[in-house]
Amino acid sequence: MVIRDPVCGMPLEPESAPYTAEVRGGIYYFSSKLCRDTFLEGARIAYFSMEIGIESGIPTYSGGLGVLAGDVIKSSADLLLPMVAVTLVNRRGYVRQQLTPAGEQIDLPDEWNPAEHLRELPERVTVRIEERDVAVRAWLHDYWSPVGGLVPVLFLDTDLEENAPEDRGITDYLYGGDQEYKLKQSIVLGIGGVRMLEAVGFRISKYHINESHSSLLTLELLKHRDMDEEKVRTRCIFTTHTPVQVAFETFPREMSVPLLRSEIPPVLMDRYVETDGLSLTTLAFDLSKFVNGVSPAHKNYSQQLFPGFHIRAVTNGVHPHTWTSRPFRSLFDQYIPGWAHEPELLVRVDEIPHEDIRHAHQRAKQILIEYISRVTNVEMDDGVLTIGFARRAAAYKRATLIFSDLDKIREINRRGAFQLVFAGKAHPADQVGKQEIRQIHEYIRQLDGDVKVVYLENYSMDMAAIMTAGSDVWLNTPLPPYEASGTSGMKAALNGAINFSVLDGWWIEGWIEGTTGWAIGPGPDEQISDDERRRRELQDLYSKLQYLIIPTYYHKTDEWATIMRSSIAKIAYYFNTHRMMRRYASEAYL
Ligand SMILES: *Cc1c(COP(=O)(O)O)cnc(C)c1O
Repeated sequence: MVIRDPVCGMPLEPESAPYTAEVRGGIYYFSSKLCRDTFLEGARIAYFSMEIGIESGIPTYSGGLGVLAGDVIKSSADLLLPMVAVTLVNRRGYVRQQLTPAGEQIDLPDEWNPAEHLRELPERVTVRIEERDVAVRAWLHDYWSPVGGLVPVLFLDTDLEENAPEDRGITDYLYGGDQEYKLKQSIVLGIGGVRMLEAVGFRISKYHINESHSSLLTLELLKHRDMDEEKVRTRCIFTTHTPVQVAFETFPREMSVPLLRSEIPPVLMDRYVETDGLSLTTLAFDLSKFVNGVSPAHKNYSQQLFPGFHIRAVTNGVHPHTWTSRPFRSLFDQYIPGWAHEPELLVRVDEIPHEDIRHAHQRAKQILIEYISRVTNVEMDDGVLTIGFARRAAAYKRATLIFSDLDKIREINRRGAFQLVFAGKAHPADQVGKQEIRQIHEYIRQLDGDVKVVYLENYSMDMAAIMTAGSDVWLNTPLPPYEASGTSGMKAALNGAINFSVLDGWWIEGWIEGTTGWAIGPGPDEQISDDERRRRELQDLYSKLQYLIIPTYYHKTDEWATIMRSSIAKIAYYFNTHRMMRRYASEAYL
């Protein structure tokens, strides 16, 4: 058996490894004393995220934010960055979606058993919530990169016998419950997380706050005797993912103070809980030196919302190996060895013949079509242009936009056939999102016999991988400026699927019209009314589909393959978490 040194990545035989360490319930092997010492005592970046999506079997994510966090962990492990991640165990997951034939979403708990996937650590820490002690334990997932490199991930859990029944449930549901429940989760994550890292023996150089849920960690750091605001700031990095004011939650003062009183001293409470309440975002801004948005456009919106702060842009990415389908992995391995570790090499994709690209994509498309046939009774055709759309069913994502004119859709389809594949869960409390899913099911019924459309149940990371790779065109129609970055289109690009998207988030940077894909609607700098925007979006959607996309797909197959290749060469080489983590490392962590 060959294993790896988690610090330098060197392959080793366990029997002959010169150094070992037995910690956190595992045995680790090292090629040198320096590696072992670094592993045991070296400082790490602590990456805090309310949701983390590493694999479908650990359902502690709801969408792009969590999947990004998982990709951060994977790229950090590949790049041998010293990181440890912290999240909540969410024993009942986010939500398991069941759909009735009419598209009614039934919300089920997505229960999973941490003991089947993770190692329980013996350490216990306590946080005080209201006037009660809440004991917290941690479950450990060692994420190993295939090329060596290890990122430990701690899943915090309050489901312990010694806790009051209501506190045992604090780490049950991702984004579940009322405001009070959410604030309690933030206390466990931010304050409990810092304590747990210390208890387990991790030495932390920087704290990366991935969205503001964990920002109470700043106040926990501030309580340490030798700390002051400036010192806390130099240790904290804040990545905001939200582009609009209304999305920044404020916890009312009369609710926050009683919950936090036992943990946060009155001077800090007065300074950081405003009269109108506690904003975890403002707290993160105030106490982080490095603050960034997730695309240049998002940085600009954030700058308008938070004038006076220096905000930077680090555009999101996706983990190359995770989001590349098997057919493309083999193809890249053959022509571009080393691509998964150095995705910049994908600029050389022009060396791969069109025929091979088409063939790999056709395989990925068949995998999608077989999947659809297995989980629904719909048989799709691998010779027909396939358009995919999948993401959280949130109103701003506008999943129903393409159905605005059903007659037009029928007419386009008569001239050149296409089929549509949808998926996405609504948050259990999001009535608008649920209504959209029902609406799409109604459109599916109305288009029956004319245009084939399916809606796949219970969207997950596995399904995202199959859909983004198997679609010919990846559709995205968010309402600007709500899509701070978006990442599913980057997954599509890695697999030669072509983006057809509204100019928002990362697509503003990735888009070269007709070269890397196509835009829907006006550019980001045009000031136009909502009605005018919608009119132009629909015009682009339908006319580009009819006069550009469909004819190119069916009649100019070489041109189509060239765009697929550009999608890889000009998007995938850059929009990945390897590039992103190298930037965080050089600009924020060092
Ligand atoms: C990548 C991914 C997302 C993000 O998709 P966007 O289109 O960027 O919102 C959401 N959910 C899952 C399961 C994903 O894999």
